[in-house]
Amino acid sequence: CFCQVTGTLDDCACDVETIDSFNNKEIFPKLQKLLSSDYFRFYKVNLNNPCPFWTDHSQCGLKYCAVKPCTPRALNPDLEECEKAEKLGAVNGSLSDETRQALQEWKKHDDESDRFCMLDDVDSPESQYVDLLLNPERFTGYKGPEAWRIWNSIYEENCFKPYSVKRPLNPLASNSGLCVEKRAFFRLISGLHASINIHLSARYLLDENWFEMKWGHNVSEFQLRFDKELTEGEGPNRLRNLYFLYLIELRALAKILPYFERPAFHLYTGQPTEDNEKKKSLLELLHIAKSFPLHFDETALFAGNKKEAMKLKEDFKLTFKNISRVMDCVECFKCRLWGKLQTQGLGTVLKILFSERQIEAMPNTSNTNPSFQLSRQEIVSLFNAFGRISTSVRELDNFRSLLSNIKQ
Ligand code: FAD
Repeated sequence: CFCQVTGTLDDCACDVETIDSFNNKEIFPKLQKLLSSDYFRFYKVNLNNPCPFWTDHSQCGLKYCAVKPCTPRALNPDLEECEKAEKLGAVNGSLSDETRQALQEWKKHDDESDRFCMLDDVDSPESQYVDLLLNPERFTGYKGPEAWRIWNSIYEENCFKPYSVKRPLNPLASNSGLCVEKRAFFRLISGLHASINIHLSARYLLDENWFEMKWGHNVSEFQLRFDKELTEGEGPNRLRNLYFLYLIELRALAKILPYFERPAFHLYTGQPTEDNEKKKSLLELLHIAKSFPLHFDETALFAGNKKEAMKLKEDFKLTFKNISRVMDCVECFKCRLWGKLQTQGLGTVLKILFSERQIEAMPNTSNTNPSFQLSRQEIVSLFNAFGRISTSVRELDNFRSLLSNIKQ
């Protein structure tokens, strides 16, 4: 099967078979359970930010692009669950007093310098609660010049490489002239793009009538996007980039363990009996992530000449911030929701990977330690973004079985 990419991944000492087995058996089931809990399923986002890059930007009228918001009960009696989130204070009140105090401290000296991503203002009246379980990432029908303009802008202007979606280059080719950091950057974005396209192929609208819609795997859609023959040889590289992204996100989870292990970290669920239980499941998952034997070595990045490395890191940050702003130009709201969440999650991953010193400096006992903080929005996006990539890796297995059944 063309989707059975095998062997060692470029730029890391890990093979895909190890990732498949580790993800599918150990990470995926536990992560799914965690993400279905109230703390992780409600995400606050501003889907109405104007596009900062172009003005001829229309709203998408596709029905599968609509996002079901958590509207007040009086307006929509069916959305009790979302109302519960609001009551739980799943966004603002989800932090213990100590953590909130620490966040205030942190905000004072957080001049965005450590961020790789633009964060929405969660206190803005435009920001709304979204129940991610009510709005699964799946096929929406968003395509054509609008979707291409987004991808093109990301690759061509914001991805360190001369690239056109009409004439893709292979950035892994030795003559691509990209240093390891820029190549890594491209691979993260390409991995994210692959994951989105795996999701839309795995949860495709197969049939629709007055009464119901049937969603499921569309093998030919998947083949069109990833088959070597049908993608001028690029499909398998894109799948490798997905695994690369997986490794980077897994590494960040392993590194952030001490932050969540602190007694001061309180996972507020609204039910005191559940708080400890949820924190326990979260830590269990992070310990599993840490136990992975072949972690990506991020110290290889930005390791050269100090001045050049600093400059490169700044470029990296600026470029990634720009990509997170491009997400406000995505016309399809459902795609915008998941695009924003995933870029924010990836931005949080980068913030973690490059805050090693601050994380290490965190004493175990102190309640208010502003040396490193994550907001709830960052935590929710971090785990949900990883959930998307983990699901994609799992879906590759499903597509492999479906393809082998077709051949038999
Ligand atoms: P596209 O996926 O649009 O790709 C454009 C070109 O980029 C390709 O021709 C190829 O040259 C290159 N390319 C493709 N994949 C990769 C890769 N992995 N790495 C490097 N280069 C690549 N659609 C949905 O149905 N549901 C969604 O949830 C959804 N979310 C989206 C989120 C965002 C942020 C964006 C920009 C788009 C989203 N889309 C979604 C649309 C979807 O990604 C495709 O753009 C759309 O299906 C059209 O696909 P296409 O075959 O024209 O190629």
